[in-house]
Amino acid sequence: MTVRVRMAPSPTGFLHIGGVRTFLFNWLYARQQGGRNLLRIENTDTSREVAEAFDQIKDSLSWLGIEWDEEPTFQLDRIGDCRRVAEQLVSDGRAYEDEGAIRFRMPDEGVTAWDDVVRGRVEVPNETIEDLVLVRSDGRPTYNFASPMEDVWDRITHVIRGDDHISNTPKQINIIRAVGGDLPVYAHVPNIFGADGKKLSKRHGAVGVDEFRDAGYLPEAMVNFLALLGWAPDGETTIMSRDELVRRFSLERVSSSPAQFDYAKLDWMNGVYLRALSTDAFADRLVIWLGEHGYEWDAELVRRAAPLVQEKIARLGEFPGFAGFLFEDVDVSVDGDAEVVRAARDALADLEPFTAESIEAALRGVVDRLGLKPRQGFQPIRVAVTGSTVSPGLFESIELLGRETTLSRLASAAR
Ligand code: GLU
Repeated sequence: MTVRVRMAPSPTGFLHIGGVRTFLFNWLYARQQGGRNLLRIENTDTSREVAEAFDQIKDSLSWLGIEWDEEPTFQLDRIGDCRRVAEQLVSDGRAYEDEGAIRFRMPDEGVTAWDDVVRGRVEVPNETIEDLVLVRSDGRPTYNFASPMEDVWDRITHVIRGDDHISNTPKQINIIRAVGGDLPVYAHVPNIFGADGKKLSKRHGAVGVDEFRDAGYLPEAMVNFLALLGWAPDGETTIMSRDELVRRFSLERVSSSPAQFDYAKLDWMNGVYLRALSTDAFADRLVIWLGEHGYEWDAELVRRAAPLVQEKIARLGEFPGFAGFLFEDVDVSVDGDAEVVRAARDALADLEPFTAESIEAALRGVVDRLGLKPRQGFQPIRVAVTGSTVSPGLFESIELLGRETTLSRLASAAR
């Protein structure tokens, strides 16, 4: 049996990170089992925005490297097939017409049960399951009818989805049985909560894949982080490559309790991935990120600044705030002693060569002569040159900034 799983987003206009985590589990499982991962768009409502939302879904998944293996399908394209099956169920006596809609007759006695890979055995008394509308009076099939039918038609072997669908599962099982289909294995993965134990939403921070991309997280760090939301290979390993995740992933080790989205941990992990890049690769990522986000900064200078910031930022998006003074004018001011700023200007005016090393020696000399502690002395210079109390290394920054700009900033700050 070839494993066949599916990612079934609704085209709502943005891809929620919780949904993506579930898609990632599908992809990991498919890759590990040598199976197929399908992309199926659940557009039971006919809004015009579907094409755009679909593009966005594909774009977000591609960015993360979560691939699909067959032509994507659209639920709407199968409306005719759904209606045909509903009519057949009516003639079989399994469904009936009700005010223009078609309803499925659920069993009244006994239980509907399944062995959920994550939740264990789930049993639902049939008397609690309402007769399900299959096709609405306007002719549109419902999600709870279309979805299991697509699972049958697509020969889905494992349904891996959010645990908010547990209550739908007994209905869907009864549909699949009524049409004589093979039941898939169900694995309902836990919800993702924020720190306050509530379902992850905008109140907690970023939730759309695009927001994380815009903030400058690396896709490989996102994938690693998302994989650990509700799953762990053991109690310890956190940093895992894509290949290692594929190798070690198992549905059996998915936890049934809610996973907590820890933004601080994501920042930490992204920092680990950023620092693990070679300087060149890190510079490449910066240049690409900046280009995608509207910065027209000299790529050569970005590359030269890259080693100064690689150890210091956790997200590519921190680069403009941290190193923007190299590319754009800053508001210069003096924080503390103007005298040291003037003396720094004099010391750098004719310094040769203008390198981090000689700049450091010259500025240390200035600070010593004025009888200041290094912190006291360098801070006003830093603020005058970079416009901020936090910056990459001062001497390297001054070298990159160049003599002319440095002198003019020091001069206007000390005026
Ligand atoms: N479209 C559903 C969702 O976004 C997925 C349903 C399913 O996987 O069966 O939650």
